[in-house]
Amino acid sequence: MPQAGLHAMVGIASRKWFPGREWLLLGVVLGSMFPDLDNIAVAVATLTKASTEGLHRTFTHSLFTVVAVVVLFYFLALVSRKLKWNSLGLGLGAGILMHILLDLVLWFNGVELFWPIRFELNFWSWYSVPLWLENLLSTGEFLAFGLFFWMLVSIAAKNGTDKEYQSMARLWAYLMFGLFVIFVVMAFTMSSGWFTIYGGLYLLALFIAVGVTIRMKTTIETV
Ligand SMILES: [Zn+2]
Repeated sequence: MPQAGLHAMVGIASRKWFPGREWLLLGVVLGSMFPDLDNIAVAVATLTKASTEGLHRTFTHSLFTVVAVVVLFYFLALVSRKLKWNSLGLGLGAGILMHILLDLVLWFNGVELFWPIRFELNFWSWYSVPLWLENLLSTGEFLAFGLFFWMLVSIAAKNGTDKEYQSMARLWAYLMFGLFVIFVVMAFTMSSGWFTIYGGLYLLALFIAVGVTIRMKTTIETV
């Protein structure tokens, strides 16, 4: 599980490569997180005791999804006659693409790059992740979200943007750091039982990250 917050930070770090078009960078950062929303499907399947097989790193991590998103927003721009929808689509496409590439390189899992064609590209099939590392990677999601919010706050403070929201974003960062500590303790002291609560809070944190990103789009787009 490569941390969604880490993807978002890579999205932010890539800001200088992109032209300063309205909603483009917002799209890049949202697109960097978007593929991991497939964990909603995993959560629903887990709760309904259905199979989670083929849900993560498949339909949201496919190159066809990148094309579909870009085309969809292109038509949205045509219909609404607003260029920024096209910029958002291009940004989302670039963000999703960066996410897929990073997933392939990092954190020991394959990606179904051409879903719905079932083929998994996996550079890590030789490696089996020990439990302690798996626990650290899961709980590290909260750490990465916290660092992402922290990064947004420091950019905002430097550029004087989103002034009225900085303290709120800082609060979210502290909350994520706190959750990280709590769940590290739980993961290493409890044999099971913590993962369901963790899963729920993880999804909540992912939604919060999407919300904070949209709320702080001025900060993101001020390079
Ligand atoms: Zn992913």
